Amino acid sequence: MNFEISIELARALYIGATVLFILTLGGLSNQESARKGNMYGMLGMSIAIIATLLSPFVKENFLLIFILITIGGSIGIYLAKNVQMTEMPELVAILHSLVGLAAVLVGYVNFLDESLILKGTEKLIHNIELYIGIFIGVITFSGSIIAFGKLSGKIGGNPLILPSRHLLNLGIILIVIFYGYIFSTASSINGAIIPLIIMTALAFLFGMHLVLAIGGADMPVVVSMLNSYSGWAASATGFMLNNDLLIVVGALVGSSGAILSYIMCKAMNRSFISVIAGGFGTDTKPTSTTVEDQGEVIAIESQELSELLLSAKKIMIIPGYGMAVSQAQHTVNEIAKMLKGKNIDVSFAIHPVAGRMPGHMNVLLAEAKVPYDIVYEMDEINDDFENVDVSIIIGANDIVNPSALDDPESPIAGMPVLECWKGKTSVVLKRGMATGYAGVQNPLFFKENTRMLFGDAKKTMDEALTILQSS
Ligand code: NDP
Repeated sequence: MNFEISIELARALYIGATVLFILTLGGLSNQESARKGNMYGMLGMSIAIIATLLSPFVKENFLLIFILITIGGSIGIYLAKNVQMTEMPELVAILHSLVGLAAVLVGYVNFLDESLILKGTEKLIHNIELYIGIFIGVITFSGSIIAFGKLSGKIGGNPLILPSRHLLNLGIILIVIFYGYIFSTASSINGAIIPLIIMTALAFLFGMHLVLAIGGADMPVVVSMLNSYSGWAASATGFMLNNDLLIVVGALVGSSGAILSYIMCKAMNRSFISVIAGGFGTDTKPTSTTVEDQGEVIAIESQELSELLLSAKKIMIIPGYGMAVSQAQHTVNEIAKMLKGKNIDVSFAIHPVAGRMPGHMNVLLAEAKVPYDIVYEMDEINDDFENVDVSIIIGANDIVNPSALDDPESPIAGMPVLECWKGKTSVVLKRGMATGYAGVQNPLFFKENTRMLFGDAKKTMDEALTILQSS
């Protein structure tokens, strides 16, 4: 039996899939509709894969395709089931690297494909597409591998500041353009392969340098930027393969990633260009304020936290990366429910760069089934702290660091933060006095109205819950 569908039907199905992908992005923009958004995405991708397999674009090698889909799908299912929530950011980074690698491989196969006979302008355009596609793919690949290393802690968070790094980047770009000219005008594969290999090597170093030069606090922008690059890499693959769906979907991912980078930059009060050009904030000196010269902290136990909570009228919960590490979100939700049951006003305040990936805290709170209507973004709630009796800062650090506002020398200077110290009391839950991702000490811990509750956040929250339940 022949299941082949016509090109026209395949294209019509591609349009249907594209619409579903647009609905996916719309759905993902809001927590309440995110699940539906994911469903649209899965449906769109299934339609896209089936339409491609049945279309005249794929004529042979069905067995190989089936084996590869089975292997890739099994690895994907295994990762999705087993990856810890705290490992999600590095998983996303490594998946971006695979998109980049795919673009590079498709580019090289396309380049070596002797059955493709093009002439004149058509050939020139094809060569330029190929060259740019491989360039973006390689940068995405090597940059994402470094981002993976940084996010997983395998590579230090400090920026690598090479002498004359901007000149170095510019030099690489100029050489890449020069070889691009030689590549696209070469008359034979033999004449084009050397420029292509040189560009690949340079792009590899460029991608690594781009991410290595970016300091810890600016990593959120890198994550969203690589997300965007992976989209453009997919789009470039679409041009190479003459596949409209890949072009459109790649552009959707590329542009939504670019918008996310812009939102992240805005949230951190950074200019996109300065981050990309090699680490904004990396020229500032490390903060002069150390643990020793900031005074004493006031430590409390879970019992005192519970008493503070019970005597409060308005409570703000500020989750950070430590909540993801300790997996305290379910206990936090239980505590919030219990306090609300006692007619205490409880809200959550989310900083846009809290955690290690965009939306990290929203995902955790949604997983714990915290009602959306008590979860606020920083901009919505930052003016409310004066009316807050107790802020509980759960494993957050950089996002509540007042030095971002008062110390122009700080590497996070200028980044808007949650101004919890304006409330009556702040209780910080963390294991010790370690700094956060940006590597800067936090003067909040030494303020008169701050209390430190040391220990794993899940453990201290569990203790507080038990005390609250018995009171
Ligand atoms: P931070 O990294 O600033 O601080 C997290 C704090 O959690 C640490 O100080 C740590 O202190 C504490 N902690 C760790 N484990 C536990 C635990 N088990 N129990 C209790 N506390 C714990 O996180 P924030 O969320 O405040 O800020 C995010 C930072 O990450 C920003 O600098 C941001 O730029 C960066 N970043 C964000 C990305 C994003 O897309 N959102 C991507 C990449 C980086 P201690 O060890 O003492 O317990």
